[in-house]
Amino acid sequence: MYPHDYHLHSNFSCDGKASIVEQCISAIQKGLPEIGVTDHFDLHPGDECAGFFRPIEWAEELDRARREFEGRLTIRAGIELGEPHIYQAECQALLASYPFDYALGSLHWVGAEIIFDRHYFRRSPDEAYGLFFEELERMTRVGGFDVLSHFDVVVRVGQPLYGGYDPRRYEETIRAVLKNCIDHGMALDLNTQGLRNRCQLLTPGVEILTWYREMGGERITLGSDAHQPDVIGANFDAAIEAMQAAGLKYVTLFEQRQTKLIKVL
Ligand SMILES: [Zn+2]
Ligand SMILES: [Zn+2]
Repeated sequence: MYPHDYHLHSNFSCDGKASIVEQCISAIQKGLPEIGVTDHFDLHPGDECAGFFRPIEWAEELDRARREFEGRLTIRAGIELGEPHIYQAECQALLASYPFDYALGSLHWVGAEIIFDRHYFRRSPDEAYGLFFEELERMTRVGGFDVLSHFDVVVRVGQPLYGGYDPRRYEETIRAVLKNCIDHGMALDLNTQGLRNRCQLLTPGVEILTWYREMGGERITLGSDAHQPDVIGANFDAAIEAMQAAGLKYVTLFEQRQTKLIKVL
């Protein structure tokens, strides 16, 4: 049994395919004791989800689900903040407006370019990955969130196009990102979505997880990044295996932005 799924979306995300209640039912069926609903809060003007999140209706539906599933499922109020270093004031205002349990910080845009579009990868792999990690370093240096989402998510589209991704080529910048996370007490979202698409990679994978543990990091959350009910908790066997290979032992739980570590290995 897995302790939680801390990265999933409902139809309060523009790309979500299920209601909060449907996601809860699936989590219970899969035997998960706890989930975090992390819908997108995007402000980049080019983003398809920009301006889509409706915090008041979302909070009402989340509270309804908490009442409906009380005693059967712990439902955490999360949020996936897009580029929180660029939209600091708006993100902090949102976090102050409701008792969120935790906020994911996500980098989907490098400047004016979204990293899910092939166009971003017209450059060399070193340039595409290098620019992404440099921006990720700036984002984590600013902080203002609790969990760094899908560390090297840029490989979701990059790996099928280029093949042969080796994080060691960007080790110095990646270690700077990890140091920022450790300094700010931010956890890493061990995200399994890449295992369900053509990239076939966990984000982050064993290499980065090992550096994190060597540097003293121990905070991990598990995330399917499910946008539909059937993949909640999917591929967590691979995530736990990667934790074990990296020597990581704990999964981090959040309540009102306070952490609790539980031993899973
Ligand atoms: Zn994301
Ligand atoms: Zn997500």
